[in-house]
Amino acid sequence: MKKQTIFLAFLALAALVSCSKEPKVENVIYLIGDGMGLGSISSLVLSEDGATGFEMGDPVIGFSETCSANNYVTDSPAGGTALATGTRTKNGYLGVDPDGNQLKSIMKDAQEMGMKSAIVVNTVLTEATPASFYGGVLSRSQGYDLAKQFTTSGVDVAIGSGLSVFINRPDSVDLTETLINDGYDVYLDWRSVVNTTSDKFVGILPMGDVHRRNESTNTTAGAADGAEVCLAAKLAASAQEENIKEGYLSEPDQYLCKATAKAIETLERISDKGFFLMIESAIIDGYGHNNDSVGMIEEMKEFDQTLKLLVEYVNANPNTLLVVVADHETGGANVTYKSYEVGGTSPVVLSFSTKGHTGTLVPIFAYGAGSDNFSGIMKNTDVAVKLRTLITE
Ligand SMILES: [Zn+2]
Repeated sequence: MKKQTIFLAFLALAALVSCSKEPKVENVIYLIGDGMGLGSISSLVLSEDGATGFEMGDPVIGFSETCSANNYVTDSPAGGTALATGTRTKNGYLGVDPDGNQLKSIMKDAQEMGMKSAIVVNTVLTEATPASFYGGVLSRSQGYDLAKQFTTSGVDVAIGSGLSVFINRPDSVDLTETLINDGYDVYLDWRSVVNTTSDKFVGILPMGDVHRRNESTNTTAGAADGAEVCLAAKLAASAQEENIKEGYLSEPDQYLCKATAKAIETLERISDKGFFLMIESAIIDGYGHNNDSVGMIEEMKEFDQTLKLLVEYVNANPNTLLVVVADHETGGANVTYKSYEVGGTSPVVLSFSTKGHTGTLVPIFAYGAGSDNFSGIMKNTDVAVKLRTLITE
């Protein structure tokens, strides 16, 4: 063999090795912290002695500009729309462009590629961020419309709250019946979600079950008036009786982490072409709006449980891409002066500059396959565009 041929063969081999180093993106996990800016992340990192999920693994770090189509400061509908569809829209709009045209979400792209899909939230399933992945309305207050649109989302697994808009409706339709007729198992209590082996299910739980510091109604289906008459409740009657008999009330502790694990377990079982999992930690935003430092730090610790689980999952499954981002920052949160003895510590305190959202850039942490694409400063829409490319290529 001539020297030149050997050299070319070597180059080809080197290219092959470098290509195979980066595994193909098979699964996408999109973890959105609503209102999670650098202030809230700082409060977590400085509060924890051990490594947080942000410090684990080998994340690629970037920044996202969170503006909407008509304001430096986005609201959650426009912020969710940018992250879900790759298009900026006007504040107030959700899943539609500034002219009101329906947009296509990257979850739809994933479904069309044969990937299984799931939504896990610690708020109502029709809240702006998850709804941006399946809905299209001119106002987030159109909860009844979003619940109806949810029934055609094509999602395989969904776990969250918000039964009322599914059953106490102006059109008198029982959307749990719609879902059940469409092949879903619909569960109204946490234990049924945890124990299910169903391949296609929706958990619509009381709010107290999905967020531990919210008032729990302490019943399995009591979040909505008239819940006992919907089809899902009738079908679940025996499970509820058993839960009540055993003194089971709710399981709010570590909900987001456990619901995420359940979704992954199901997606792994049912998918042969990968999966798309969207998770929203929604309440960080609320602590920002309330300028609640203690609550924010507690909430970030809870977020971190989910993040750590996911980083460990990516480490064990290198064909998975995990992208952690926020739709916007809330509260203008920052860590303030607090002295302590040299070598000592004292609890971190956040101060806030507004009760609203801010247009400050938010960090992006990307782990696993395809993570290299997320370094640098980009628009919120670029995050979705990059994910779309990785999903569809
Ligand atoms: Zn907000």
